[in-house]
Amino acid sequence: MILGKYSFGLGDRFGHQGKAQLEAVMRARREGIEITPVWNKSNREHTIIGTQPGHVRREADDAVAACGWDGAYFVDADHIGLGNVDGFIEPSDFFTLDVADFIAKKSVKTDVDAFVEKHSKYIGSLAVAGIDERFEISEEMIRSAAGKYLLAVKEAGRIYRYIEAAKGRGSFVTEVSMDETGQPQTPVEMLFILAAIADEGIPAQTIAPKFSGRFNKGVDYVGEIEGFAEEFEETIAVVAFAVKEFALPAELKLSVHSGSDKFSIYGPINRALKKFGAGVHIKTAGTTWLEELIGLATAGGAGLAIAKHVYEQALKRIDELCGPYETVIDIDKGKLPMAGEVERWDGRRFAAALRHDQACERYNPNFRQLLHVGYKVAAEMGPNYLDALKEYADVIGQNVTENIYERHIKPIFAEDPVA
Ligand SMILES: [Zn+2]
Repeated sequence: MILGKYSFGLGDRFGHQGKAQLEAVMRARREGIEITPVWNKSNREHTIIGTQPGHVRREADDAVAACGWDGAYFVDADHIGLGNVDGFIEPSDFFTLDVADFIAKKSVKTDVDAFVEKHSKYIGSLAVAGIDERFEISEEMIRSAAGKYLLAVKEAGRIYRYIEAAKGRGSFVTEVSMDETGQPQTPVEMLFILAAIADEGIPAQTIAPKFSGRFNKGVDYVGEIEGFAEEFEETIAVVAFAVKEFALPAELKLSVHSGSDKFSIYGPINRALKKFGAGVHIKTAGTTWLEELIGLATAGGAGLAIAKHVYEQALKRIDELCGPYETVIDIDKGKLPMAGEVERWDGRRFAAALRHDQACERYNPNFRQLLHVGYKVAAEMGPNYLDALKEYADVIGQNVTENIYERHIKPIFAEDPVA
């Protein structure tokens, strides 16, 4: 199974927006941009919401049937490991092997020695097509990369083989993810990570590194945009080099776990993809859930009341809700509006504070991040929330489609994103 050149990860916490999400991908196709949709949901999301991996499969199949989509599509078991993969095996055909927790653990010395020995021909000056400067690689750099990442890649190998034994070779897409960790990987480290992935025999089609800067949930990138652009291009070049050098799958490409809404780096990503003719997988999650809230708020009446209730509860339970997302949110509590103030807002005011429009003076990234992690409150409302999604399906669906197409797909993939 081969993932297309451009693919887009659609997260949908409550599983009601599959059709609206697919509509954005179909709009892209009508505009000449071919994208493979991938519905992703992590074990963390399933646990908080109380859903099962099979629900995502049903949502994807139903959306595809209802919209008459005839292209490929996938269901991604996002951020899984050996401890929680079992429930995902049957319904998923895309597996994101998360080995970030193994990065800090020490690799076995004899494994490191053998790796350094095997790849010692890269010691010296290395030219990689597409990068002006040559990499100066020392034995110490290979040893250090192996020390940090070899154990993690070996764990990815174990997870891969476990899934392969259950599903059969070639029947699913494999991603290796190392994004949820403290330190970004340098392009040279990425080269040796890919060498290790090839040594393990993992047919990875996507690799998710941690890039420099902050990828907080639902808000824009925080960091040096030029530095990111350079790092992104170098990493693309290293991936292309590694594919040939280590006989990895020709489709191998980067996966950007965006945390949604990294608008300021979409331009550099778009330019890098065009420059190298490279593909990419962009993974988003919470952006659709926030569009549900925006849709409910603008619908007014009972819809707005639900949106306000979610905020009020989220504010009360801020520490509990932020806990699982500690490393990927930065909320300035002093800038959160009081519940009493929000209570007086009308739907447009609520939507303006929440909608990710940085040109709007009412937009409040602290408010947005808190609601981003506040989906547990909506999950606990059970049918009250889900019934509202059905009642206001039209206005919510328009927001979901518009958001994915206009704010994400177009800036990342279009030939001329500003036209
Ligand atoms: Zn991730």
